[in-house]
Amino acid sequence: MSDYTKILLEEHEMPTRWYNIAPDLPEPLPPPLHPGTLQPATGEDFAALFPKALIEQEMSTERYIDIPEPVLDVYRLWRPSPLFRARRLEKLLDTPAKIFYKYEGVSPAGSHKPNTAVPQVYYNALEGIRKLTTETGAGQWGSSLAFACAQFGLECEIWQVAASYRAKPHRRTMMEIWGGVVHPSPSNLTEFGRSLLAKDPDHPGSLGIAISEAVSEAVADPGVRYALGSVLNHVLLHQTIIGEEALLQLAKVGETPDVLVGCTGGGSNFGGLAFPFLREKLAGRMNPVIRCVEPAACPTLTKGQYRYDFGDTAGLTPLMKMHTLGHDFIPEPIHAGGLRYHGMAPLVSHVYQLGLVEAISVPQRECFASALQFARTEGIVPAPEPTHAIAAAIREALACKASGEEKVILTALCGHGHLDLAAYDKYLSGEMVDLEFSDADLAEAMKSVPVIA
Ligand SMILES: *Cc1c(COP(=O)(O)O)cnc(C)c1O
Repeated sequence: MSDYTKILLEEHEMPTRWYNIAPDLPEPLPPPLHPGTLQPATGEDFAALFPKALIEQEMSTERYIDIPEPVLDVYRLWRPSPLFRARRLEKLLDTPAKIFYKYEGVSPAGSHKPNTAVPQVYYNALEGIRKLTTETGAGQWGSSLAFACAQFGLECEIWQVAASYRAKPHRRTMMEIWGGVVHPSPSNLTEFGRSLLAKDPDHPGSLGIAISEAVSEAVADPGVRYALGSVLNHVLLHQTIIGEEALLQLAKVGETPDVLVGCTGGGSNFGGLAFPFLREKLAGRMNPVIRCVEPAACPTLTKGQYRYDFGDTAGLTPLMKMHTLGHDFIPEPIHAGGLRYHGMAPLVSHVYQLGLVEAISVPQRECFASALQFARTEGIVPAPEPTHAIAAAIREALACKASGEEKVILTALCGHGHLDLAAYDKYLSGEMVDLEFSDADLAEAMKSVPVIA
C-alpha cells in the first residue's frame, strides 16, 4: 500500500459512463444565445454544426451518459491511463505533501484531446456525416481529430493558425499521417480568410479566426459538420473519464485530494479531471480546494469579464456566457499554444463565478523552470500547457514544506512535450521572456463584446 509509484486500473475497471455536472450545479448554467435574436439558442441553431447526439449531450440534464461500445473500444488503445505518485519530485522539493498526476500523454496523439475526438467522430459517423472541419492552434486538437477520423473512416479538414503552421511543421505531419488535410489560417479558401489576407498577406492568424473559417466551411455543406476540441459542454463531458478514473485510482490507495490543480485553456482537461471531484465535494464526501491555472499572458478567468461573447473572431457562433478577454483579443505568442484562447468553457466560468473553484495565473518562465524539475525527477517531458499545473502543484508543495502540512495534491499531466522541444530550447538557452498582458489591449478588445441588456 505504501510503496506505489504507478496506480493502474484493469481494462475491465475502466468507467463506462461520462459524468454530466449540469444537474448537480447549485444554480443552472446560463444558456447560449442566438446571436441574432438574443433568445436562448435551440438545438436547431446548432444543427448545421453538430450531429444530433452531440447537441443532445450539450443540453442534457442526465447525470450520467453511457459511453458507446465502439468508443470504449478505441479508448482501450490507451485507457485506463496511469495515475502516478510523483515521489521523486516530492523528494527533490523536500515536501511532506503527496503529489499525484494523472497522465494523459499515453494517447496516440499525446494528449487528453482524443478522449473527446473519438466520441465526436463516432456520433458524426452514425449520422452519416462524410467530413469534419476544425481549427487547431499548436496542432494537438487537429492531430487528435485526424486520428479519430481515421478510426471511423471520415475525412478531416483542418485550419491551423498560420503562425504555428509555419513554426510547428511536425504536428502538421502528424495530421497528414492520419489522413487530415491542413490549411494555414487565415486561408484564401474562405471569404473571411481572404479579407484578412488582403490586409496582411503574412497574417499570423489566431484560434478565433481559424474557428470562423472551419465553421463557415462546415455550414456550407450538409454532408460536413464542425468539431470543437474544448469549451463546449459535451467536450467537458467526454473528458470526465479522466476524473472518474482518477477517483477509482486514488481510492485504490486510500487517498483523497486536499488540493486539485489543472491548467485551463478552454477548460476541457481541467473540467474533465475536476468535475467528478466537484461532484464528490458538493455531496459532502470530500472537500478539496479546486484551482484553475492559466497563463499570465492570457488570464481569461483572473482578468477577463464574465459576459456573453462569441466563441470565434468573425462572430458566427452562438453567444456564450463565459469569462472572456474579448473575441478580438489576440494573446501574446506564449509557448503554451493550447492556452491562448480568449474565452473559457461556460461550465468552468460558471463554477468559478459561483465560488466553487479558484483561479491563479502563472508566468511562462516559472512554468518551464517547474517543468525541468519535473522532467529531471519524474522523467516525462510535459507539454507547455500542463507546465502551468505543475508550477501550481510545486507552489502548493513548497507551501506544505513551510507549514508542515501533509496535503494530497492532484493534477493532470494532460500531454507530453515531445513536439514542443523548441519551447524548451528557448528556455534552456535563456531566450524565453515572460510576455506582458496589456490592460489597454484588453480594454480595446472588450469594446467588441456585445452589450446585452
Ligand atoms: C489543447 C490542450 C490544452 C488546452 O485545452 P483545455 O481545453 O483547457 O484542456 C491543454 N493541454 C494540452 C496538452 C492540450 O493539448
